[in-house]
Amino acid sequence: MKTAASLTALVFALAACTTTRSNSDPAIKAADALDRAADALAANAAPTADEARAFVAAAEKDLADFSVISSRAQWVNATYITDDTDALASYFGTIGTEKGVSYASRAARFNDVAGLDYDTRRKLDILRGGLTLAAPQTPGAAAELNTISTRLQSTYGKGRGTVGGKPTTGNDLEERMGTSRNPAELKEMWTSWHTNVGRPMRADYVRLTEIANQGAKDLGYADTGAMWRSGYDMPADEFAALTDKLWGEVKPLYDQLHCFTRAKLNAKYSSSVQPATGPIRADLLGNMWAQEWGNIYDIVAPKGAGDIGFDTTDLLVSKKYTPEKIVRTGENFFSSLGFAPLPATFYQRSQITAPRDREVICHASAWDLDNKDDLRIKMCTKVNGDDFVTVHHELGHNYYQRAYNAQPYLYLNGANDGFHEAIGDTIALSITPDYLVQTGLLAKNKLPSADKDTGLLLRQAMDKVAFLPFGLLIDKYRWGVFSGRIAPTALNQGWNDLRLQYQGIVPPTPRTEADFDPGAKYHIPASVPYTRYFLARILQFQFYKAACDQAGWKGPLHRCSFYGNKEVGQRLNAMLALGASKPWPDALEAFTGSREMSGAAMIEYFRPLQAWLQQQNAGKRCGW
Ligand SMILES: [Zn+2]
Repeated sequence: MKTAASLTALVFALAACTTTRSNSDPAIKAADALDRAADALAANAAPTADEARAFVAAAEKDLADFSVISSRAQWVNATYITDDTDALASYFGTIGTEKGVSYASRAARFNDVAGLDYDTRRKLDILRGGLTLAAPQTPGAAAELNTISTRLQSTYGKGRGTVGGKPTTGNDLEERMGTSRNPAELKEMWTSWHTNVGRPMRADYVRLTEIANQGAKDLGYADTGAMWRSGYDMPADEFAALTDKLWGEVKPLYDQLHCFTRAKLNAKYSSSVQPATGPIRADLLGNMWAQEWGNIYDIVAPKGAGDIGFDTTDLLVSKKYTPEKIVRTGENFFSSLGFAPLPATFYQRSQITAPRDREVICHASAWDLDNKDDLRIKMCTKVNGDDFVTVHHELGHNYYQRAYNAQPYLYLNGANDGFHEAIGDTIALSITPDYLVQTGLLAKNKLPSADKDTGLLLRQAMDKVAFLPFGLLIDKYRWGVFSGRIAPTALNQGWNDLRLQYQGIVPPTPRTEADFDPGAKYHIPASVPYTRYFLARILQFQFYKAACDQAGWKGPLHRCSFYGNKEVGQRLNAMLALGASKPWPDALEAFTGSREMSGAAMIEYFRPLQAWLQQQNAGKRCGW
């Protein structure tokens, strides 16, 4: 996760509270001056290119100044939760949201202005498309949208399912879905969570769709889905087609994994629970949403080949690693590529471990507080293999943030939203057994032999490959709901149709149109776009392969580590330094030489596994 002081972070949540602030605040005075400028503009029927440039310059300066103080409030709140810091964070959050709403609608006034230079046009589009949900100008609409958004999120947060009839929080259910191997209990957890959490949201979600669509239309988009797809430097429909193309490239691998996993579940639970053909029962995959399957690796692990041969957690513990040493090891990876060391303030100001004396948010994130080099991570790092990978992931955000810090404020972002999440994962893919030997964590004579690769790749695929159709369908669903292709009377059927079509899974119990199963996934009630996660899964392999090619790697792709290669570092930096200043194909080309996103590298990475899966699945009827 990335937290940067960029406009895309200004998600719509509180736009209703426009009259509750004191005008003694300098940030608000600046905003008022802009309001007056905008009013003057509104009186002018045909805005000019000069006015557009002046508007963009003023907006960019205002947002840049505001982002620094706002980030500080958010940081203090996340690392020291009290009533007071909650109030401060919410105060600045509200102002930020209002600025986002206001700038989007003002930017839309320049939609038809001709003769704009490249940067003015691009920055206007960034301002206009920076909201997640837009409210129309009609009286009361923003307040209603805000009320509904808040209610949806609190319904999710307060939601309870049951285990053995006992009410249980979402967090506890999520954990238990990963470890329980009792099909009756899994079915109860899945069904109670989806029914209890989803159902009450249904009417609200229909209304949210109506209001937000009108808001998107007012900004010049066909609907909210088209607005979300506008951030990818191509027409909205072309982008939808691009995601289909990418899915088509990786689907054969998913189909093999699905087939193999289904057979293992059938063997474990018998045909009365999981039939040998057809879709997989959604609650048997170790995750409430069947989005990553790594939790049931024990069920699918092949004998012998399933034993990976070492355990990163054990290595870290036996070498007496501390959380800070893990972070310094991650930093060392980037230094080996030629990136400058992290500033001293990184170690002074980051939250690397959980403080003992106060409440904090432990969810890992990476920050850039001054849009220059006040980089920090916020984690509650534990000495284990998962956090070893997470540290590399978060540092990827930090190095991206610093690489583009010479760009103007509105370009302080990834080339598209998939890029930012992919960078750290690209580095994490390079944490191979060979890399662990190079860092001294793994003894050279303990390096696993090639016959362990199947286990390593299968464990990776259970998370990274299993996620692909889920990562895609969350927004396929919402694009359909926003465009009206999925009717308000068929909201649940539309969801389960996509789950069957893409993931090949079915609910464990009958569902009806009284239900709203999509509401049981956080990102739906919270209105967080999701395609970025699908793109990041694809892109990280494409970046990784480009780096390995540049490093001259000739072996099987999954064994490559580009640790220590300065040329890779230079090429990577050339992409990162562009920030969001150019269309993403330019950034992709700067590093990989290609202007096309492609699933080919992911297929190459998993090729030995795919061949192995095909052998295992021989004679079975795959598909559903
Ligand atoms: Zn991230």
